[in-house]
Order: sequence, then structure tokens, then C-alpha cells
Amino acid sequence: MQIHKYDTVIVGAGGAGMRAALEASKNSRTAVLTKLYPTRSHTGAAQGGMCAALANVEEDNWEWHTFDTVKGGDYLTDQDAAEIMCKEAIDAVLDLEKMGLPFSRTPEGRIDQRRFGGHTRDHGKAAVRRSCYAADRTGHMILQTLFQNCVKQNVEFFNEFYVLDLLLVDDEDGNKTTSGVVAYELASGEVHVFQAKAVIFATGGFGKVFKTTSNAHTLTGDGMGIAWRRGLPLEDMEFYQFHPTGLAGLGILLTEGARGEGGILRNADGERFMERYAPTIKDLAPRDIVARSMVLEVLEGRGAGPNKDYVYLDLTHLPAEQIEEKLPDITEFARTYLGVEPTTELVPVYPTAHYAMGGIPTNVEAEVLSDNETVVPGLYAAGEVACVSVHGSNRLGTNSLLDINVFGRRAGIAAAKYAATADFVELPENPAADVVALLERLRDSDGTERVAAIRAEMQETMDANAGVYRTEETLKQAAADIKALQKRYANVSIQDKGKRFNTDLLEAVELGFLLDLAEVLVAGAQNRKESRGGHAREDYQARDDANYMKHTMAYREVDANGDVSIRLDWKPVVVTRYQPMERKY
Ligand SMILES: Cc1cc2nc3c(=O)[nH]c(=O)nc-3n(C[C@H](O)[C@H](O)[C@H](O)COP(=O)(O)OP(=O)(O)OC[C@H]3O[C@@H](n4cnc5c(N)ncnc54)[C@H](O)[C@@H]3O)c2cc1C
Repeated sequence: MQIHKYDTVIVGAGGAGMRAALEASKNSRTAVLTKLYPTRSHTGAAQGGMCAALANVEEDNWEWHTFDTVKGGDYLTDQDAAEIMCKEAIDAVLDLEKMGLPFSRTPEGRIDQRRFGGHTRDHGKAAVRRSCYAADRTGHMILQTLFQNCVKQNVEFFNEFYVLDLLLVDDEDGNKTTSGVVAYELASGEVHVFQAKAVIFATGGFGKVFKTTSNAHTLTGDGMGIAWRRGLPLEDMEFYQFHPTGLAGLGILLTEGARGEGGILRNADGERFMERYAPTIKDLAPRDIVARSMVLEVLEGRGAGPNKDYVYLDLTHLPAEQIEEKLPDITEFARTYLGVEPTTELVPVYPTAHYAMGGIPTNVEAEVLSDNETVVPGLYAAGEVACVSVHGSNRLGTNSLLDINVFGRRAGIAAAKYAATADFVELPENPAADVVALLERLRDSDGTERVAAIRAEMQETMDANAGVYRTEETLKQAAADIKALQKRYANVSIQDKGKRFNTDLLEAVELGFLLDLAEVLVAGAQNRKESRGGHAREDYQARDDANYMKHTMAYREVDANGDVSIRLDWKPVVVTRYQPMERKY
């Protein structure tokens, strides 16, 4: 077992991890550990844009952006965090421009901006053009730009290193302090310990708990799962976003930028149904509202196709040159995967699991919290793995590429500052013991259960019972199914017993994280008897501010027999200037 020593260790090389690395490596000896080669991170799949009130093409300001973010989040957004994000958005975009990001431009040469769901002028009066973009490959450009700048700055990467544990040590008062992480090297099968003063988790989301998802296969929630097993809470996990326009039956994403460019949704009768649900901004309502409306159209019999189970995205009225220039990739997806020609035909679409609003709780300095306010010294989280909470119960489109840049930067600065004065915390005795035991158990097991079968059943039940609409009954079913799958997981075995490139083994570990997170998601959803943002209950259709305008905090509890249960608690929402109002669009 090798032991490495760095001031700052960053786990994850997506947008959040690399933005953090650019800051941290200026002032502290920094290593970035990533299970994927950096440019394969999911940030690179982001299409539509990154928003900031640059006001390049029409009047705009960060205060309107903040209001939209709070209202878009159905008033569960922490308003202090949203203010910071929307204010710092402008520099975040300009920083990327200076680093060399090739944004799409206006004829005058300024960064062009387009419309996206829920972004409005003057508190909801009309849709505003706020999203900066590079065709429909914005995330790709961000990831490449950050990577190139990391290379230029000699950031040290450990590629295909899977972090599987976080080392926390109790100080004299019994409070947890960070001492490092344990990682598994894919190429060799070796276990490595990284001692660090500061650790930043930037491991992204966990869309793979669902079957129909826009997320890459690698989005298995490892960071959240590791924190959870180490006794840290998870916040607002029931709020999972379903993006309206996944390719029907596949879940592959078509950016909301398609509607930003003027695309519209139609039901089987050809009706532009969003006019009924959101009369002012119609197809550009926030995602939770559009996804719910699409599902209702299908449930009420106005779905299209042989099984009446999807609706259409209509781009046929847009000039072909506009589609070619602004939406080249996603139109190609429609051609390749569904055999549909978007310039002349309607594209079948249906909501797809897309984004985790919840995650590891942090404050606005990206410091991880072990309860409603206690900071874990030396531990930071940023990006989709974290819950700051800038997105409340529903994230607006293009606010995530913004979030990873703003809070990735903040995490990098805060971690390096901490590392400059803190001492290394001694490693626990036998720091890799738990990881070695976990891997040995999986490798040596001759159990009869298969990873792929358990994963498929988990995804089936999550799609069927914890999707866009939920009820007491469906959630009970999901909870029971997950419990049964947890039991079967204990009896899982793998075929590849080797050391080199053993992805079989790692998939088994990742499934363990997914099952834990599915369980927490469902528990939070059962406990929240209201509908808000990404959490819609058929049996409690109204938002209930009197009882539920508060964040869910889930804690893992282990009793004397070693049995694990979930304890749910609450955390107040930070309200600075916007009192909750009825959410009309
Ligand atoms: C198809 C698609 C399109 C999107 N389009 C947009 C958009 O247009 N605008 C927008 O704002 N948002 C968009 N989003 C959302 C946004 O892209 C993501 O939320 C954001 O990029 C997440 O960035 P991240 O840095 O947190 O994580 P990621 O980019 O997912 O990176 C995670 C990193 O963590 C590493 N990692 C994970 N687990 C481990 C482990 N155990 N050990 C070591 N390393 C690990 C991975 O290797 C990877 O480097 C889109 C998302 C998808 C899926």
C-alpha cells in the first residue's frame, strides 16, 4: 500500500474539481484524483449553456437572476447562496473567456446569450436571454478549457484512481476532522492512501439510480455514498430533477436550448399544451413544471405514439441554418437514435432523470457540514455532489455549469487557505482497512446474486415508483424493493477475480453506493407530504409552506447490533429578500 501526502486532495476532475484545482494548486500542493480521465467527466456532456446576467443582448441584472433562481427552486433555495452565485456569475463567465473558451458570439463579437427555462426579465415579465453558450457543446468547451489550463498550471492528476473512502479522525472534543482519502488504482488494483490537510469532494451526481436518465454510466454518487457511510448527513435527496426533453424510451438528453431557440412541445393532437400550464412563458417554464405537464398530458390520454406514452418537441418551424448553427449535436442525436429528421419531423420526447438538487450539505464557502451548522474542518464539497443549496427543490437550466464554476472556485480558495495554516491530521491506524475488507469481500464472495440484475431491478422500481409523480403507495413499494435489493446485494459475487482493470469489482462497489442513495431519496420523499419543485406527490398536490418550507436532513444511524436506519430531520431555509409566493409562470 502506497501512502502519498498532499496539502489538498481534490476528488473528481469534472468542472467543479478542475475549477477548484486551478485555485488550490496556486497556493497549496494539490493532487486531483479522478476515476475517469478528466475530459471524460460528465460536465463534458452538458449542452445548452451557462447563465450570467451579462446583459449582452438585452437588459438584465444579477438581482433578476437571483429572483428567478429562488422562485425556480420553489422557495427552498437558500437565498444568501443564490445571491452569491448570481453576482459571481458574471466574473465566472469572463474568467472562462479569458482562459480561452470559444463562446458563440453576437455579430458584434460579444458573448451571445439565449433563453432558458425559468430565466426572466424583471421578476417574471417575459423570458430573458441569459445563457452563454458554445453551440450545444458548452460543457465540452468548459471541460476542455479547464483541463488545458490545469495542464498549463502543472496540476497533478491521478487518473483512473477510484476514491472509496474518506478518512475522518475525531479530535479531543469528538468532532470529526479530515485526514485524507483511500483510493483504488484501476490499472494495478493497488490501494493508495492520500494523507491531506484539505479534501474537496467534486464527484458529481447519481442519476444511475434511475433507468431512464440523461446521466453517464459513471454517475453513481460515490462521493455522497462515501460521506454517508462515514456518518455525514445528506440534504434534500428527494428533490431529483426530471428534464422534460429526453429522447422517448431512451432518456438521452435534448437540451432545453432547443426550446430556448424557439422549439415548442405538442401533444398527440398537435396542441401547444404548455399554453395551458404556463400562459406567460409557456415552453420556457422551469423543468419541474414542464415535466409534470408532459406526464399529465400522457396520463390524460393525449400522449403520442403507438402506446400514447410521449409528447413531441417541434423544431420544424425554425430555419434550418439556425438549427445547424445553434443545435448541431442534439439534432444529430435525434437522427441517430430515433431516425427522426428534426428539421421536418416532430421529435418524440419524455422526461428523463437528470440532476440531483440534494447532496452533501455545505455552506457558501463550500465547507461540509456535519449537522445544520457544524463545519467538518478540512472537508469541502462543490458541484453536483454538494447541496449549498442554490437550486432549492428545482434547478434552473444552465445554473449547474454556473454552480460548478462559482463554488468550485470557492472550494479551491477555501481549501488552500485552510491548508496554509492547518497541520496534517495523523492517519487512523490501518487507514485502508475498511476499503481492503470491502474489496476482499466482493472479490472472494461466491454468492449467487449478480450486479447487473440488482442494478436493473433498482432502476426499474425507481422509475416506476419514485419518478416525476409519487404517492404514499408507490414510495412504500420503492422502499420495500430497495430493502430487498440491499439484502440480495450482501450476497453478490463478481466474475473477474483479477487485479488489473477490474471494472467488474468497481461496478459492484458503485452499486452499493447507488442502493444507499436510492434508499435515502425514497425515505425523504415519503416523509415530505407536499409537492414542491422536483418532488411531486399525487396525494399531496399543494406546496405546504407552513409545514415543509425547510430542507430535509438525512442521517445514517447504526444501532448496537450494527443495523442501519435513516433518521430524518430538518434545516431552515435561508430567506433574505423574497418571501414565498404562489408560483405562476
Ligand atoms: C447530458 C447532460 C447535459 C447537461 N447540460 C447542462 C447545461 O447545458 N447547463 C448546465 O448548467 N448543466 C447541464 N447539465 C448538468 C451539469 O453538466 C452537471 O451537473 C455538472 O457538469 C456536474 O459537474 P461536476 O463537476 O459536479 O461533476 P462531473 O462533471 O460529473 O464530474 C465528476 C468527477 O468526479 C469523478 N469521480 C466520481 N466518483 C469518483 C470516485 N469514486 N473517485 C474518484 N473520482 C470520482 C469523475 O471521474 C469526474 O471527474 C447537464 C447534465 C447532463 C447529464
